[in-house]
Amino acid sequence: MRLFNSLTRRVEDVVPLEAEHVTMYACGPTVYRYAHLGNLRSFMLYDLIRRALQFEGLQVTEIMNITDVGHMTDESSVEAVDKMQLAMEDEGLTPAEIAEKYTAAVFDDATALGIRPADRYPKATEHIQEMIDLTAILIDKGHAYVVDSGSVYYDVASFEGYGKLSGNTLENLREGHRDLETDPQKRHPADFALWKAAGPGRLMKWPSPWGEGFPGWHIECSAMSMKYLGERFDIHTGGTDLRFPHHEDEIAQSEGAVGHEVVSIWIHAGHLRQSGQKIAKSTGNVILVRDLVERGFDPLSFRWLCFQTQYRSEMDFTWDAMATADQRVKQLRHRMAEWKPGASELDASATAFDARFREALADDLAMPTAVVIVNELVSSKEVLDAQKYALLASWDFVLGLDLERDATAGWEPTAEMRALVTERDAARAAKDFATSDRIRDALGAMGLEVMDTAEGTKIRPRD
Ligand SMILES: [Zn+2]
Repeated sequence: MRLFNSLTRRVEDVVPLEAEHVTMYACGPTVYRYAHLGNLRSFMLYDLIRRALQFEGLQVTEIMNITDVGHMTDESSVEAVDKMQLAMEDEGLTPAEIAEKYTAAVFDDATALGIRPADRYPKATEHIQEMIDLTAILIDKGHAYVVDSGSVYYDVASFEGYGKLSGNTLENLREGHRDLETDPQKRHPADFALWKAAGPGRLMKWPSPWGEGFPGWHIECSAMSMKYLGERFDIHTGGTDLRFPHHEDEIAQSEGAVGHEVVSIWIHAGHLRQSGQKIAKSTGNVILVRDLVERGFDPLSFRWLCFQTQYRSEMDFTWDAMATADQRVKQLRHRMAEWKPGASELDASATAFDARFREALADDLAMPTAVVIVNELVSSKEVLDAQKYALLASWDFVLGLDLERDATAGWEPTAEMRALVTERDAARAAKDFATSDRIRDALGAMGLEVMDTAEGTKIRPRD
């Protein structure tokens, strides 16, 4: 498997630190509003990386954080307003209720889009101590300083590699920050908060050695990634907008604290636009999963639409393209129902198709090529129908389109469901009940009844 590393700006082989086992940290949702299709495109990329690696036979451990504090509008201002606090005031709910509501919503969206659960979802609010500890280490090592207000800033000039991910070196930044309102106590305008003193009226705050306050957003990902994956791990992913300052600052924090490289490969998902416009709350063109459902589309068809654009490229969403993708996915399921299963082994012509599909995946997830291969296979006159069925059923492990839905209307679990059952049984065997419960919920959301038996997990459609 080869992936584009944003840090080296090259396509590189994925060489896991531990043989056959890839460790991956994914920047997760901020849970004070619904995730839009642009956010979900990024989450689908994390899932696609994982599926593709597993398809190659590798084991993957994926951690995705839940940002339920500290994601501020302006990191540098003392009066910075936390968006969580704003949502709370708008909706008349407590911070915990806001977080719970939108965390549940994003899990539902992920399930609807065929995004498999990560192994763990640490919450920022449950790791305040880890963030305080890391901040204290950075102060000790001379990478951070406390100001009179009780805020702690990272001293960007103390970290030699600052700017290596985004190209925003200190020289470039001095220009860009000229107009920004900043805390006059900062040594450099680009210094960012590790810990913020709680201003008046602040509800989400914690005690710390520097007084009551709350963590900056970036420190959360350094603290939680290293807690769960260690001081070296393989892949870190996020949307392209997180490259700077979020990931640049994370590198400064993590590497400043441990003194060496932490992440091998940084991967960033491209932006999603709608009919040429940036998708943002301010432009009023936010599309949610439920908008797809309301228009009669299967949310899984959004996957097929995304596959037509390389993951790093900007993608333009139009409702026409969505309609075409939806039609195609339904057609593929219908064709599979006509073909019927039956091939026990792939013949030469099917094997050639399989090799091309796997090569496309391995080539930095060239999904537009994979789409062409699927289309060629469907219309191929050389490959027997039962062989086509076997190939698509196997590829659906990565595509996640529930392609056997019509064929198995009788009913048989899909490849996806079988994979989840296997994962759940493994989690139960390892006494990881949090994961096992989460997978049970994911199966439940697919309309299945989940039963625990002596032979392990059994599923059947709910009446
Ligand atoms: Zn992050």
